[in-house]
Amino acid sequence: MSAPVPAAPIDTDALVIGAGPVGLFQAFQLGLLGLSVQVVDVLPQAGGQCVALYADKPIYDIPGVPVCTGRELTERLLRQTAPFQPGLHFGHEVQTLRPLDDGRFEIGTGAGPQFRARSVVIAAGVGAFTPRRIKVAGLEAHEQRQVFHHPDDLTPFVGQRVLVVGGDEAALQRAAALAEHPRSPGVTLLHRRDQFSAEAELLARIAALRTNGRLQVCIGQITAAHAQSDRLEAVTVLNAQGVEAQQPLDVLIVCQGLSPRLGPLADWGLALERKLLPVDVATFETAWPGVYAVGDINTYPGKKKLIVCGFHEATLAAHAARDRLRPQERGPLLYTTSSALLQRRLGLTG
Ligand code: FAD
Repeated sequence: MSAPVPAAPIDTDALVIGAGPVGLFQAFQLGLLGLSVQVVDVLPQAGGQCVALYADKPIYDIPGVPVCTGRELTERLLRQTAPFQPGLHFGHEVQTLRPLDDGRFEIGTGAGPQFRARSVVIAAGVGAFTPRRIKVAGLEAHEQRQVFHHPDDLTPFVGQRVLVVGGDEAALQRAAALAEHPRSPGVTLLHRRDQFSAEAELLARIAALRTNGRLQVCIGQITAAHAQSDRLEAVTVLNAQGVEAQQPLDVLIVCQGLSPRLGPLADWGLALERKLLPVDVATFETAWPGVYAVGDINTYPGKKKLIVCGFHEATLAAHAARDRLRPQERGPLLYTTSSALLQRRLGLTG
């Protein structure tokens, strides 16, 4: 659940940009070292690529976890981080990062929360994920009221006439779940061609729903939106034969994929190398002292874009941030198995 937007800037030891697997583990490592943490992601949920791109696919190379899906890994990471109660801010894009005279950083998210952080970890992956939109005049005005992109929670749409646009797993999952609901008055799946890409089991569900008439499949694309008194009533669909027809609807769910966008990061003044942030491999600090980069967004000799590598980077970045902010706390390395301090921070002892 995303934290509410406070009126005043949030003061924190560390601000993590990106709630992908590496950003979440970063929050854990920072919390373990006693630093307060806030995490911001433009997506409405945690997990980064793991949830946005392959939520239900298996991952086999997480140490100690022989197999788990992208979603399961994210749930585990969130649970692991929970003892430190990091502020989680979803649906907000970090737009500005500016050093302040007192050594802190000011981080802005437009109309969303603002932060003053003593250190910043950029775990922005391949960039901020933004849904591909349907470029038809008039649809944008209905976003979040009748037009939704990749919504997670389908309950508000049950009992409504829904048009789902897309041809991959994300679109098919949503179309099937809604069409299978006993209160569904009818669901239409719209795609450019009669060819869908998903696991065999999901394709079979879609085929069965088509056969029993619970799901209409329409091949074509939206060319116009029709609204009356602020309400989207229908869209025009142009089919493969060049014939236009109106499709009435209450809700339009668009699942045309997500595209990563480096976005505002490119304007912060940090040195970039082929759209990646070069780092010092001992600390994962960027060219700006106090600003670190971990996970897919960084680059260094031998870099591998793997989750396990990001976990290592996050661990070293957390130690570097703690050493910089609290040099007096530097000392022998502590283990979670034996350190009373770490176990207290983990909430295991009083
Ligand atoms: P991401 O997961 O990309 O998360 C970054 C987050 O930052 C995103 O949620 C994004 O929205 C957010 N963000 C970016 N900019 C901003 C901003 N300005 N403001 C707010 N939020 C922002 N790796 C493995 O190790 N094993 C595998 O089996 C494996 N399988 C894969 C399968 C596929 C299909 C794909 C695409 C990748 C796979 N990977 C795998 C790679 C792995 O998913 C990535 O290495 C990992 O997700 C990187 O994590 P991250 O946290 O650095 O970045």
